[in-house]
Amino acid sequence: MFRGEELARYGFGDGHPFGCDRHEVFHDELAKACLGDAIRYAAPRRASVDELALFHLPEYINFVSKRSAEGCGFLDGGDTPAFPGVFEIAADVVGTTLAAVDAVMQGDARRAFVPIAGLHHAGRDHAAGFCVFNDCGVAVEYLRHNYDLQRIAYVDIDAHHGDGVFYGFEYDPDLLFADIHEDGRFLYPGTGAANETGKGPATGTKLNIPLPPGAGDAEFADAWPAVEAFIEHARPEFIILQCGADSLEGDPITHLRFTEDAHARAASELCRLAAKHCGGRIVATGGGGYNRHNVARAWTRVVESFVATA
Ligand SMILES: [Zn+2]
Repeated sequence: MFRGEELARYGFGDGHPFGCDRHEVFHDELAKACLGDAIRYAAPRRASVDELALFHLPEYINFVSKRSAEGCGFLDGGDTPAFPGVFEIAADVVGTTLAAVDAVMQGDARRAFVPIAGLHHAGRDHAAGFCVFNDCGVAVEYLRHNYDLQRIAYVDIDAHHGDGVFYGFEYDPDLLFADIHEDGRFLYPGTGAANETGKGPATGTKLNIPLPPGAGDAEFADAWPAVEAFIEHARPEFIILQCGADSLEGDPITHLRFTEDAHARAASELCRLAAKHCGGRIVATGGGGYNRHNVARAWTRVVESFVATA
């Protein structure tokens, strides 16, 4: 479990939905769960430029660095503001996800959770949707570069389509992608139709399941077995879960109506699949979520599932 001021600093202030209070709200709720010795806390670390460049293009890394020094304007068309130090703060999020990968790969932790991370909209060459650097995308390349793994599964239950990961690996047959999200015709970023299954050699290695606005636990329960079957068939070597809490009822910017049971189920079933196929190796990242109660509860349930699942 990762906790620290460095993670808490990632946010955009001034009434922006991605505020800096999400970290504290979650950790307060997690503390109430009294998981005791079952959880070990670790501190964030900063990703190096070389690590960022495993996924992001050098031109884009330089662009963020420059805007961070200027400390104003936007990193994209208007969703993701630049502010002084945004480069370092975004690199802290990426580095922490890499630290989680290290902890699991080196046997220091059975499973790991990184709140605030899961910045799935950032592309290889651009910021988007509150996401500066894509920690999940970097983590995939990091697992390949540092640990010689190839087949990585990325599962995303955030209300928004994980477009930064999807298009970053659209032609990559060894990135197994499964994403349940609100139909892009009704919600940002507008992508993730069911017929987007990967391209070229990667055709069939991506699973997009768009749900209509208002879909709740019943629709999630109908969709989830396809994700399980997909992972079962894909036989990955490592699983990354992006468990955005904005798919829960009451989120101010989306229209799905899951309860936190969906997050608990996804976490426990993926632990089971990880145990079966990849030596138990799984890392979860918090992702989106703009109703503070939902963030606290959904992420806590994921951690509880990580602790409780054999
Ligand atoms: Zn989201």
